[in-house]
Order: sequence, then C-alpha cells, then structure tokens
Amino acid sequence: MVAIEHADVCPSCGGLEELLASTGWCVLCTKNSGLCLSCGRVNGSPRQSECWFCRDQKWRQLNADKIELYMMQGMSLTSAMEQVRLENRALREA
Ligand SMILES: [Zn+2]
Ligand SMILES: [Zn+2]
Repeated sequence: MVAIEHADVCPSCGGLEELLASTGWCVLCTKNSGLCLSCGRVNGSPRQSECWFCRDQKWRQLNADKIELYMMQGMSLTSAMEQVRLENRALREA
C-alpha cells in the first residue's frame, strides 16, 4: 500500500486526501466546485483543471522565447502573442 504524502482530512468531503494549497480542499472537491487546481480561483472552463489565467500564464512561460523574438522585431506584446498563437495552430494542423 502506498502512503499518500501530505494526506489530510478534506474540510469539504471529510475524506483523507492530499489537499491542494490553493483551496485547502482535495482535488475532487476543488474540481467539483469549479475551482482552478493551481490558484483556487473560479475556473470559467470546468472541462479544464486550471483557470484561463493559469493556463495563460503557463502558455506565456512556454512561449516566452518566441514572444520575445517577435517583440525584438518591434511587435507589441499583444501582436507577438497573437502571432505565436497562429504559429502554434499552424504547427498543430500541419
Ligand atoms: Zn474533498
Ligand atoms: Zn488558476
């Protein structure tokens, strides 16, 4: 039997679960309440485990190099991000 690390009693369901620092609840309760697993904010897209804000942050980190490259060519942050999005979409569809 594998012991769960940092297991605690979830205040929402009462189960012995690993609690998220963001909400203090277990993953299931956090998801069921429609909250983001990363920041605990209200998640506008329940099919995703993270809110738009967190996914946007991660996306920016992931694509920071490309965005910076476009900005060095004189693009604004918004246009640079739009350009990278278009590029990524093209890559996926290729
Ligand atoms: Zn729970
Ligand atoms: Zn979030």
